[in-house]
Amino acid sequence: MESLSSKQYKNEFVTTFPGDDTGDLKPRQTPGVLYSRADPTPVAKPTLLAWSEELAHELGIQKPENQQEVDILGGNYVAPTMQPYAACYAGHQFGNWAGQLGDGRAITLGEWEAPTGKSWELQLKGAGQTPYSRRADGRAVLRSSVREYLMSEAMHYLRVPTTRALSLVTTGDQVLRDMFYNGNPAYEPGAIVMRVAPSFLRFGNYEMLASRRETDNLRQLVDWTIDRYYPHLQGENRYMEWFKEVRDRTASLMVDWLRVGFVHGVMNTDNMSVLGLTIDYGPYSFVDDYDLNFTPNTTDLPGRRYAFGKQASVAYWNLGCFASAIAPLFNGTEELVKELEAYADIYSAKYLKMMENKLGLDQVKTADIGLITRFDETLAALKPDMTIFYQLLIDLPLDLTSDEELVDYFSESYYTAPTKAQRTTLAGLLREYIERIKQNTCTREESQRRMREHNPRFILRNYLLSQAIEELEKGENSLFLKLQEAIKAPYSSNSDAFFSKRPDWATSKAGCSMLSCSS
Ligand code: AMP
Ligand code: MG
Repeated sequence: MESLSSKQYKNEFVTTFPGDDTGDLKPRQTPGVLYSRADPTPVAKPTLLAWSEELAHELGIQKPENQQEVDILGGNYVAPTMQPYAACYAGHQFGNWAGQLGDGRAITLGEWEAPTGKSWELQLKGAGQTPYSRRADGRAVLRSSVREYLMSEAMHYLRVPTTRALSLVTTGDQVLRDMFYNGNPAYEPGAIVMRVAPSFLRFGNYEMLASRRETDNLRQLVDWTIDRYYPHLQGENRYMEWFKEVRDRTASLMVDWLRVGFVHGVMNTDNMSVLGLTIDYGPYSFVDDYDLNFTPNTTDLPGRRYAFGKQASVAYWNLGCFASAIAPLFNGTEELVKELEAYADIYSAKYLKMMENKLGLDQVKTADIGLITRFDETLAALKPDMTIFYQLLIDLPLDLTSDEELVDYFSESYYTAPTKAQRTTLAGLLREYIERIKQNTCTREESQRRMREHNPRFILRNYLLSQAIEELEKGENSLFLKLQEAIKAPYSSNSDAFFSKRPDWATSKAGCSMLSCSS
């Protein structure tokens, strides 16, 4: 284990690429560079609120033992070998080109080399202004920081690719936010998360260079990305092979989100990781009821561009932007377009494989596609609690036959009682499902084991987060600690104390279902 203060940090991004080394934090456009040097702005009193033991252990990072090390996590102290910077990137937001965005409140301190030899970027979110802060303050509030801290770790334990979170500190400063965007700003406690990933590069980093026609910088960034993060891709065709792998990882991520019921809420191209990680946790949510139209982001209304059921197609649209950005590196775009178009089939194949696991089929066959489609349609119409429905499905007694028995077996999962027609449809579907399960060549136990492995039993519901945050704001951390434990074993019954539907009171309460982008 090494300490945060004595570690020899690597700084390969800053030493490789052209950057703006002035240290000037004034908001501005920065053509010609991939980053700006930016030191964190100190806060009143960094206090450690949470620390991810397992992640720290994996990376070989010693828990802070003195105030100087907590000060690193709060941006009040920069270790001698760190070269802090904010990355310059652009993006398409809600379907429109937004130009230069960049890390407006995220500052990468340095790269931590773990005992395995793998390097991890250590990045503070909420550490103060950078040249990319535009008119904003560079800070983050406690509620959004708790959400990013817990959810990124929760996704990791759900086996969904994600950036990680090492620590959460409160700053002792107040931050002014208009939480509901209704002209009533109020002060809230400030906080900083240290997040960790092999890289935070986004589609938007490449879009930035393409839009500025900085083709040499673009080529250099693509070469560097491949060498560092896709080293198995070598040879003449490596750019195309790389695009294909980014496409495939993105498709896998979308399937994983659907599997666990995660809605990102702001799938702008600046929030799309080039490593296929879940990145930038904002107004995200798990679905409670299986509603394909659900968007957790109030800014996403009324269009619902980023709704649960649209994420796979938005990812395709985003990959299109990414393909356009790297197109200058190819001779002609015909093959690139062909590979982009292949997304639909690749996604479908991954989706069917995921449903095979979710439904406990021995092997998905062409004949199963109808069953899977009807499952999805029936759930979308009935809108039961997704997590509870699938947990009940695992133990469905295969000898149930009547409509009544079959439909009532799932009672615990309904938010509204099924209509007569819905009862008939669901019962018919379940009878078909039972027949199919009986045809499995594997044992029922093996099928159930796979279902348990792929259907989470504990999800970090928005209303639980909201309650934990309300408590923390009052200085009480017991629910927070319980959730921090529960996220670690989401496929077990360890946390059955939380095994219930979203309560009625939470349906309309702000922050329990939908959220604004204010953070
Ligand atoms: P997001 O919607 O969180 O992905 O952010 C979009 C852009 O706004 C990014 O460039 C962020 O860095 C920037 N941003 C968001 N909140 C702040 C803030 N409080 N201060 C500075 N920049 C911000
Ligand atoms: Mg973002």
